Amino acid sequence: MTALQEPVALHPAPGATGPLNDARTQLREATTLLGYDEGLYSMLATPRREVTVSIPLRRDDGSTELLVGHRVQHNFSRGPAKGGLRYSPDVDLDEVRALAMWMTWKCALLDVPYGGAKGGVRIDPRHYSQAELERVTRRYTSEISPLIGPERDIPAPDIGTDEKTMAWIMDTYSVQQGHTVLGVTTGKPISLGGSRGRATATSRGVVHVALAALRSRGIDPAGATASVQGFGKVGRYAARFLAEAGTRVLAVSDQYGAVFASGGLDVPALEKHVDATGSVVGFADGDEVPAEAVLEADVDLLVPAAVEGVLRADNASRVRARIIVEGANGPTTPEADRILQEAGRLVVPDILANAGGVIVSYFEWVQANQAYWWSENEVEDRLAERMLAAWGSVNEAAARLGIPLRTAATVLAVERVAQAHQLRGLYP
Ligand code: GLU
Repeated sequence: MTALQEPVALHPAPGATGPLNDARTQLREATTLLGYDEGLYSMLATPRREVTVSIPLRRDDGSTELLVGHRVQHNFSRGPAKGGLRYSPDVDLDEVRALAMWMTWKCALLDVPYGGAKGGVRIDPRHYSQAELERVTRRYTSEISPLIGPERDIPAPDIGTDEKTMAWIMDTYSVQQGHTVLGVTTGKPISLGGSRGRATATSRGVVHVALAALRSRGIDPAGATASVQGFGKVGRYAARFLAEAGTRVLAVSDQYGAVFASGGLDVPALEKHVDATGSVVGFADGDEVPAEAVLEADVDLLVPAAVEGVLRADNASRVRARIIVEGANGPTTPEADRILQEAGRLVVPDILANAGGVIVSYFEWVQANQAYWWSENEVEDRLAERMLAAWGSVNEAAARLGIPLRTAATVLAVERVAQAHQLRGLYP
């Protein structure tokens, strides 16, 4: 019998860039340390299922436009696939594959009983009305509905989607099933089976580990300085919670520009400005600076909380922050990782740092499946406990093996997934 063709190129081609190459480079490093063979690497490097759908959209002006969407289920050895749905003009299948793989490691590392998935629709939601976005979401949901469900794959918000999107997915799926299925999405509105604390969970988790990381380097968070790239679902609340902990947030950026204040930005005032204008640009109590200034600011802590690949070989040597806590997925390329490592920077990796979102997604799914709702305190305490436990075990593994935190986190996660594979065995 002849060998099967590889469904997707498994190895980063020399000089190739992009999130999938980054994710596979990180995986390769972990499987090499773990002594896994090529067959196991290939299984872990390849999504279990992926679907691409076309989404014909009737625009408000009566014209029709064709959009494309994906859902990738990277792994479900440890439980249903889990991961966000992204609406962005930059979405492509390789990006979604990488994000799905990172979800698998994130869920395994935090020991939530899920595999990893991700979805994406190539659309710039800023240019579409709410009614159009609802039609896109419902059609996309209808196309992927055979693949999703509380026991199969559970979407959640990501860049460009929010609790309304999750409500539409839940409703579309429920109408098809003939009954309400709250557990099919997480990140829903609280009045519709959402969990208390979910909207701010990623940022809470980022700040739990950021404060722990500062302390681990002998820096008192009260009085430390920080910069935050991105002022969306993750960056905004990260800036807020850092400021509440007494850390001075000197610089913040969004997709339109950046602001800086040497004495620290007044974060509540900045939030009001953003609510009124839609951007951090034009904030009166700060100076406008180029967007890169946020990544290169002379601060104790940098939180990249926007998109992948922002810390690269060409700018990593200009990073001056002593600690980088990844609020975004995949913000640091492997080349940048090496440069930051050599410069003595501490990088707290995405699969640990931004796991708060999926942890509270898990809590939401548990609550929905049991139809019993927890108080905000219960959610916050359990979130903190899980984040700090994972912070502890990643640090312990890094120290024991003499490797960076990212490699340690990936090794721990990959080992758990591989164990599940081995225990289940291969069918047939
Ligand atoms: N989109 C978030 C992430 O990248 C949350 C995923 C989820 O809650 O399923 O972690």
